[in-house]
Amino acid sequence: MRNPTFSLEVFPPKRTAPIGTIYDTMDGLQGIKPDFISVTYGTGKSTDRTATARIANTIRAEYGIESVAHLTAQYLDRDGVDQALEMFKQAGVSAVLALRGDTIEGAQPANIFCHASDLVEYIAQSGTDFDIYAACYPEKHPQASSLDEDLDNLKKKVDCGVNRLISQLFYDNEDFFRFLDAARDKQIDVPIEAGIMPVTNVHSVKRMAKMCGARIPEKVRVLLDKWGSDPDSLKTAGVIYACEQISDLVANGVDGIHLYSMNHPGVTRRIWSNVYSLFAERL
Ligand code: FAD
Repeated sequence: MRNPTFSLEVFPPKRTAPIGTIYDTMDGLQGIKPDFISVTYGTGKSTDRTATARIANTIRAEYGIESVAHLTAQYLDRDGVDQALEMFKQAGVSAVLALRGDTIEGAQPANIFCHASDLVEYIAQSGTDFDIYAACYPEKHPQASSLDEDLDNLKKKVDCGVNRLISQLFYDNEDFFRFLDAARDKQIDVPIEAGIMPVTNVHSVKRMAKMCGARIPEKVRVLLDKWGSDPDSLKTAGVIYACEQISDLVANGVDGIHLYSMNHPGVTRRIWSNVYSLFAERL
């Protein structure tokens, strides 16, 4: 992989949408050269487990790009995890992004993989040769009482066998740099990719910020106020904002950028066309 790495994230189409829509997304991403594309995994028992594996397989086999499969495990038993890992192996994925997943109201967790670290440990001891990736939270996970507590838990997770971390989205690079310093102080030494989610519409920024506990800084608020009712201009401003975040992160030596594509190839391409030379292969 390059240093810094550049990766993308896509999600399986909604159950009501034809699976073929992922081809539209992938065709739209042609020409972008990410180190890998990760595919999200639903949470809960009734998740279509095959969708992540099928899309990961398509990315690798038909588009020639390394694929990473997410796996959320708090509602799975060991058989469920084994089945998912076998599907990922058949699909040729290079790494599994091991997650606990969000809690679903009213659903009963299996109480086996209570934290992502339990899944990391299980995969590390499974005899499979996946790299193991995991999530981290520059502004702390919403359930943690402090960043320090969250980092202690992150350290436990990494020590169970994580090779690479991918961060939650954030809109202010200072939050990421602060987190990075604190993580390194705790001897969390694996590469940490910065998660960037471009601002594309007011509703999704507010929803994601609420869901992930991400702070909306004044600079983003100004964009939302100015162009909230002008979708094309807001998209342009969002692309520029994401490019500025990326160039500042790369200039400061970030290990990698993980762009949440939200299955919007147009926005992803516009960002890539501005920043690709920052990710040129090092001689
Ligand atoms: P954990 O690492 O288990 O952490 C969750 C909370 O538990 C934290 O507050 C942590 O401090 C605490 N904790 C962790 N370990 C311990 C411990 N040993 N003892 C006590 N407390 C502990 N969701 C999906 O449904 N599907 C996806 O595909 C998906 N992909 C994601 C990709 C990325 C890059 C990120 C950042 C998030 C993703 N999520 C996804 C969201 C994720 O599932 C939620 O944020 C979830 O609430 C936490 O998952 P986790 O794996 O980070 O949990």
